[in-house]
Amino acid sequence: MEEKSKKKIKGIKIRNINIYMMMISCILYIFLIGATIYASDRYNAMISATEDYISCERDASLIMEGSDYLTEQVRLYTITMDIECMKDYFTEAYTVRRRDQALEHMRSFDVEEEIESYLQTALDYSNRLMTDEIYAMKLITAALEIDEESLPEDVKNMELTEKDRMLEQEEMIAQAREIVFGSSYQEMKALITDNISYFIDSIVDDTLKKQQNSALDLKYTMTKQQILISILFIENILMFLLIILLVIKPLKIYIENIEDKEKLTVSGSYEFKYLALTYNNIYELNTANEAKLSYRAEHDALTGIINRGAFDRLRQFLKNKQIPIALLIVDVDKFKTVNDQYGHEMGDKVLKKVAKLLVESFRSSDYAARIGGDEFAVILPEVEEDRKAVIEEKIKKINNVLTNPENNMPKTSVSVGVAFSSSGFNDDLYKKADAALYVTKERGRQGCSFYDNGSDTEKKSEES
Ligand code: GH3
Ligand code: MG
Repeated sequence: MEEKSKKKIKGIKIRNINIYMMMISCILYIFLIGATIYASDRYNAMISATEDYISCERDASLIMEGSDYLTEQVRLYTITMDIECMKDYFTEAYTVRRRDQALEHMRSFDVEEEIESYLQTALDYSNRLMTDEIYAMKLITAALEIDEESLPEDVKNMELTEKDRMLEQEEMIAQAREIVFGSSYQEMKALITDNISYFIDSIVDDTLKKQQNSALDLKYTMTKQQILISILFIENILMFLLIILLVIKPLKIYIENIEDKEKLTVSGSYEFKYLALTYNNIYELNTANEAKLSYRAEHDALTGIINRGAFDRLRQFLKNKQIPIALLIVDVDKFKTVNDQYGHEMGDKVLKKVAKLLVESFRSSDYAARIGGDEFAVILPEVEEDRKAVIEEKIKKINNVLTNPENNMPKTSVSVGVAFSSSGFNDDLYKKADAALYVTKERGRQGCSFYDNGSDTEKKSEES
């Protein structure tokens, strides 16, 4: 098909639709994967914030338990003065380390400096408290004059103030008890608890904020996912509809058209329209060629009237049909002489002229055929013997034209033999018409003879 007509075709190209849909799908899938990764990240953040909160609570209770245990042991020691209490104190302080471990763990949280400062303050107070506790224990050991070597390093290395060293035994014990039971000890403990509480509260606040943010993000991302999935779903439905409209429907129509041997109904996508137009062009060309070929197969190339083959098929068709028929066999007189004197081309012109006169002289329902070189036949359906005069008159007119030619054509004439049948074509009809023709030729040509069925003799019609 030419470029011009290609441009005239309007329609959606499946190729383009495919590319666009693929691109849209890829973009949507990339967004969907991104949203899914982000959602799982937010979910993990939410879980980890919850875990932080739980471990923070656990740490807080460990600190309090550890701290209370140390207080309990140091107080017990100042009252019972049982060395086992001191040992338990140091086992907790340096081996079990509940308070220190929890504090260290808390420091691992990623928190703001301000929040971290609460923990630092708690730690500082805790160290000061421990120093006081060890000091109190040192006072007891000094009061009881226990051998220094058996004491823990911290107690051994603790230096009493000048003033306390001068105290009496009872006063030392009282001083030690004052340190661990006194109001400043209680205040320091309360400060530690307060700072730890501030820290925990801040962590809880922070965790809650993080949880809320993560939950919000998760909700937003899930909404985004739902929208993306909905768009993908709509896109899929659209794709199916387009395939039905642009491919399946036209294919169905085209198959029906081809089965019905029709031209294709131009429909569907650009590609299908292009296909249909190309097919239709070829279809038209083929139909025209077929028509030409069948015309050529039926008609004589020189005169344009039906040929011998078509005449024989017509004979066969009319064989023994219950209709009356008249058959005329027409032969050009002395045609060889025309060819010899005027040339073959002029001979052809004469043949064309005779064919034309035959077609024009008889009805459109009659069949004029060229059945040999200068021999013609005319079948007149529904014509009986009572029409002899009419036939005779027509032949007479034809011969009048041929004997008075125009355009420097040679004078010619035709001899005609006529036979009738009341029941279509039969084997004898041709023979009878040919016999009548022979009679015309015998009687001097340029005329018409009828085969006489009654007497089986032929009669020559006289022409003026
Ligand atoms: P008659 O009166 O007895 O029929 O004599 P005739 O000369 O016509 O004899 P015949 O009918 O046997 O001659 C037919 C001639 O027609 C022979 C051949 O050379 C010539 N002819 C056959 N086909 C063609 C054709 O297509 N063109 C031309 N110009 N001549 C043809
Ligand atoms: Mg002849």
